[in-house]
Amino acid sequence: MQQVDVVVIGAGFAGLVAARELGATGLDVLTLEARDRIGGRTWTDHRLGRELEMGANWVHWVQPHVWAEMTRYGRGIERSPRAEEAYWRGADGSPRRGSLDAFMELIDAGQQLVVDDVREAIPRGVEPCEGRIRELDHLSLQDRFDALALDAEARTANESVWVGHVNAPLDRVGLSSALRWVAAAGGHWQLMHEASATYRVTGGMRRFAEAIAADVAGEIRLGCGVVSVTQTGTGDDAHAIVETGTGERIRARRVVSTLPVNAIDAIRFDPPLPEAWQRQHAETVASQGCKIWLRARGHLPRFFAYGSQHDPISVLKAEFFLSDGTGDSTLLVGFGPDHRSVDPDDLGALQRAVDELRPGIELIEATTHDWMGDPLSRTTWMTHRPGQLTRDLCELQQPAGLLHFATTDNAALWGGFIDGAIESALREARAVAAALRGPEPAQRRAGLSPRARPGRQRR
Ligand SMILES: Cc1cc2nc3c(=O)[nH]c(=O)nc-3n(C[C@H](O)[C@H](O)[C@H](O)COP(=O)(O)OP(=O)(O)OC[C@H]3O[C@@H](n4cnc5c(N)ncnc54)[C@H](O)[C@@H]3O)c2cc1C
Repeated sequence: MQQVDVVVIGAGFAGLVAARELGATGLDVLTLEARDRIGGRTWTDHRLGRELEMGANWVHWVQPHVWAEMTRYGRGIERSPRAEEAYWRGADGSPRRGSLDAFMELIDAGQQLVVDDVREAIPRGVEPCEGRIRELDHLSLQDRFDALALDAEARTANESVWVGHVNAPLDRVGLSSALRWVAAAGGHWQLMHEASATYRVTGGMRRFAEAIAADVAGEIRLGCGVVSVTQTGTGDDAHAIVETGTGERIRARRVVSTLPVNAIDAIRFDPPLPEAWQRQHAETVASQGCKIWLRARGHLPRFFAYGSQHDPISVLKAEFFLSDGTGDSTLLVGFGPDHRSVDPDDLGALQRAVDELRPGIELIEATTHDWMGDPLSRTTWMTHRPGQLTRDLCELQQPAGLLHFATTDNAALWGGFIDGAIESALREARAVAAALRGPEPAQRRAGLSPRARPGRQRR
């Protein structure tokens, strides 16, 4: 049986960073990834004539963990096209057209009102459960909108902006998701808006993930799904047996799971998962939407369009402009609140959905990845249901014996984002290294680097 210090389950951003950090302390780390690729919910794939991000796309310098990795690996950013035209639904439901400034003016008061109490609710973005949030966490985003006196047009526009952010109908999502991300952006909704959907990583997410993977000291084994984790033994003999889908068994002193809450049932844990994990998994987190790429004929003006939260596609945006042997085309990226309402093979239905948002577009083809249906994710980007944040977050961060949990789902600052995945990995790698190698300060006082410590064994 193979023996290692740590098994990391999953090679998304959380897994890659955890494996890199643990390997850097001299521990033997084996990363097991069920897919045939690294990156998890980031996935740069060649579709519709170019490299497209099927998962995460945007990062920002106010996201400190991802930005530190961007700096470390010399990654640059490029701006998604700035819209020159905006479309939204009027009070009667028909599309309105105006400038970006006109749309921003329409939503300004409403956006501010939704998060007006953010500084009392979550005074520090890094402590998302501290403050009045505990009193407010039972509210959904829809509850908050219902309590605001917005006129019909401003309300529809404001709601659709938030549906775009939270990727689910607003009555399913906790107000906490809006408040915590705006708190992470220093209390400014405009900055949160910019941070979540403006700057792409130059060269794409795949290369970003590959750069981190190149710094992982141990093996990253692809196509290797974990089916069970059993903790056994006591004292110095305490260890975990990690079993893969092919029946291989690996003995480890610690295990780091990076599985999202919604997908964690793919693994049988003995002892069973802590109550908070079981509870939140049974409820599922709130996100349930989709991201879809559409190719449209001709070079369209740079635009974005917002529908309503009841449309299959609630946000649509011109993202790339192609010219090839088949002529000019525009690649549009769309987001919808329910993955079951969007079928990439039903171009007729997609055309009707797009016509509702922005007339004058002729669709040619479409592609998506159903992250909700994907058994290895079952989530897009995590948003909480009402009550889940303050009830469960602290507990989700706690290790269960030899088992640690690093996932964007249990991050403090930008939970749901790549930044949160990295934050959680740094947190758990530090905890695992301290457990296996002793705390850093003691080592420093002794004048020893972890690599130089006596008694370290590589198996
Ligand atoms: C459509 C979409 C758009 C997004 N847009 C953005 C964005 O613009 N900006 C942003 O910051 N974030 C965005 N996100 C969120 C971001 O992608 C995630 O927050 C982040 O990638 C999560 O990283 P993670 O490592 O925590 O989880 P994951 O990336 O899900 O990694 C978990 C890994 O575990 C593997 N795994 C699962 N089960 C097993 C098993 N049994 N055995 C072995 N391996 C297993 C999975 O295959 C996966 O590789 C988006 C997500 C989606 C889906």
